[in-house]
Amino acid sequence: MRSLTSFQLLERISSLLLSEERKRYAALGIQPVHAQVLDYLALCNRYSDTPAALTEYLGLTKGTVSQTLQVLERKGYLSKLPDPNDGRVVHLQLLPAGRELLSQVQPLDIFTQAEANLLQKEFKSLRHALGSTLEVLQKANNSKSFGFCESCVYFRESDQHMQCGLTEEPLSQDEVQKICREHLFPNVKAD
Ligand code: SF4
Repeated sequence: MRSLTSFQLLERISSLLLSEERKRYAALGIQPVHAQVLDYLALCNRYSDTPAALTEYLGLTKGTVSQTLQVLERKGYLSKLPDPNDGRVVHLQLLPAGRELLSQVQPLDIFTQAEANLLQKEFKSLRHALGSTLEVLQKANNSKSFGFCESCVYFRESDQHMQCGLTEEPLSQDEVQKICREHLFPNVKAD
């Protein structure tokens, strides 16, 4: 069966989660990167709570991290403390308002649902695991699957003739190798 590569699957999972995050964070008046910073500060130890370590962790530029820290400091989510032994080093401290915000944004509901659904499954390969993860996330999120015909509920095949049950049109070998906006997994309700 035709399927996306592991890299493409990871990209799709990442886009789906990012789009969910954007919606959720927008409702709280913050951007995904703000939550990522606060999340990092809640996880890291005292050797790692510096702007330099944060920049490495996020893989962003110093300028972007610096601007993000200014916004978060202004909103009262974190503070900067000088290192007692080295005046050149600043430590970032998560404030109660930052912890409170974090508790409101995690975890994403769809990811929790996906974890629960995937718990009992066994996977043949990384690609299989990623494909199943994407499918479960898309179902939980009611988002379009953009899959291939062979896994679509509308796909019909007999005597080497392939047809789309949605449009009632024949499908060529080439067409069933392409992803489709109308693709629907079995057991998912159409809009
Ligand atoms: S809806 Fe799209 S994916 Fe499903 S069978 Fe028709 S063409 Fe293929």
